[in-house]
Amino acid sequence: MDTRELTCINCPMGCRITVVMEGAEILSVTGNNCKRGEIYAKTEVTAPVRTVTTTIKVNGGTHDRVSCKTKEPIPKDKIFEVMDVINRSVCEAPVRTGDILIPDCAGTGIPIVATKGVDNI
Ligand code: SF4
Repeated sequence: MDTRELTCINCPMGCRITVVMEGAEILSVTGNNCKRGEIYAKTEVTAPVRTVTTTIKVNGGTHDRVSCKTKEPIPKDKIFEVMDVINRSVCEAPVRTGDILIPDCAGTGIPIVATKGVDNI
């Protein structure tokens, strides 16, 4: 039997969650104060995912960079590849909140979307 201790990152309460496993099978999840914590813990021990928030370079805009994020959480082991693609990318102003800046980032099938806008110079 294997025990994993996790801190839920879904809200500021930061519940300490204990997951007991037998091989790949989850036997119990305890310590979570809501269902979201249980879902988080089960995902975290089987196929962990993260939403990446960062900035991307902008050409011809009132700012050099614009904030962006993955539209959905991506597999945790793809974070470095996704960041590498974002760091090598440049988008053109104007950018509007919600614009898709990279349609399929690093083969994840997940787009990178702008979380702010940047006007033309
Ligand atoms: S288990 Fe629920 S209450 Fe606890 S940190 Fe996670 S989301 Fe918040």
